[in-house]
Amino acid sequence: MTLKDHIRPVPDFPKPGILFYDISTLLAHAAAWKEAVRQLHAAVAPLKPDVLVGIESRGFLVAAPLALELGVGFVMVRKKGKLPGDTIRHSYALEYGEDTIEIQDGAVQPGQRVVVLDDLLATGGTMAAAVELIRKVGGTVAGSAYLIELSFLKGRERLAALGVPSHSLMVYD
Ligand code: 5GP
Repeated sequence: MTLKDHIRPVPDFPKPGILFYDISTLLAHAAAWKEAVRQLHAAVAPLKPDVLVGIESRGFLVAAPLALELGVGFVMVRKKGKLPGDTIRHSYALEYGEDTIEIQDGAVQPGQRVVVLDDLLATGGTMAAAVELIRKVGGTVAGSAYLIELSFLKGRERLAALGVPSHSLMVYD
């Protein structure tokens, strides 16, 4: 069995014509999930992060156990209006309209090395926005990591143009 055997492709979700890669089946399988976190650990530890950032919401599932393994803190980047206290915001363009993400003030200290986690890299738009937000608060983005990469959508290239390397466990072309 490989990790890909634990990913369930769901046709026409959330819209007709989209093939959605469901990670629920991986999370539900204790041994496979442990192996995924082990592989992420091997990819991310050399980047020597001071802190891990997870992007709402499936990025939290990936970043939180990895932070425990690495012995570093875990910080959330969320959609606007979800985090209490003072926050820093970043708005970015979507295909139609725009979206805003937030991080709590002081959660990442200026100069800290940050690795950002999400479940899946597609166009890279979500990760690029998180990178801009972390840079706004003075963090150094040492890299990004994912369970899954859809290589045909060229997110890796988009992030490389921002100076951010990408690490993924499973690639679909
Ligand atoms: P991007 O911004 O790179 O185009 O899209 C990545 C974001 O969309 C990630 O936050 C990810 O959670 C979500 N996403 C897009 N397609 C899929 C998919 O097929 N499976 C999963 N699990 N997430 C997806």
